[in-house]
Amino acid sequence: MVFNPRMTSHSTSLAERLAAVHDRIATACTDAGRSADEVTLVAVSKKHSPEAVAEAAAAGQTVFGENRVQEASQKIPLCDERLDFHLIGHLQSNKAKFVPRLFSTVHSVDSGKLMRALDAAAGQAGTSLRVFLQVNVAGEAQKFGLKPNELPSLLRRAEDCYNLNVDGLMTMPPIVRDPEDARRWFSTLRELRDRMRDETGFPLDQLSMGMSHDMEAAIKEGATFVRVGTDIFGKRVVPQEHPND
Ligand SMILES: *Cc1c(COP(=O)(O)O)cnc(C)c1O
Repeated sequence: MVFNPRMTSHSTSLAERLAAVHDRIATACTDAGRSADEVTLVAVSKKHSPEAVAEAAAAGQTVFGENRVQEASQKIPLCDERLDFHLIGHLQSNKAKFVPRLFSTVHSVDSGKLMRALDAAAGQAGTSLRVFLQVNVAGEAQKFGLKPNELPSLLRRAEDCYNLNVDGLMTMPPIVRDPEDARRWFSTLRELRDRMRDETGFPLDQLSMGMSHDMEAAIKEGATFVRVGTDIFGKRVVPQEHPND
């Protein structure tokens, strides 16, 4: 039988799985001729408890990712206030007002409307937010994210968002069996960033790409943030659909 690290997740501790993820990041960085401190690990704690967050924090993890404001607004107040939470999932602009007191960073800005709502919310809260623009690199109909050709006008509008630091791009590429096949989408995002940097003057230093199964491929293509859930916390339990969810 082929060794599958995910099958051991019940017999290993969270700290061990976290260390294994750090090892994979370090190895991928070495392979790519990059320094491991160029890549920040976002531990995706969605659908996991505040206790699991505390366990990861005790093992040294400081940056966490949540994909829903509703869940995060219940969980984050129960967590150590020194932890840094990032919003990584789609957000409706009418929920932007909840973001500044919960999150430092939003990876999933996918419309001008949301960008302006976040700017207003940050201003209201007397703070600023770091945001990444989410790009639908493969043009998948069912996925959130901007079309590449929408970026220039959005970045022009970002110049007036004084409470936002528009600092990079994010993508969720099509799911493929062999992570190496995802590399072309990660390189597409990097090349898009390079082009936007030249055209708009926004440095867009951060590339948020790569998850449990494809973080190595993303790092080889320049990821500065990888968002990893399953390989740290184990499989997410899918709860019964709530009618109002
Ligand atoms: C859930 C999620 C992840 C983590 O996925 P895993 O496969 O569990 O590592 C990363 N990014 C986003 C946007 C997610 O919603």
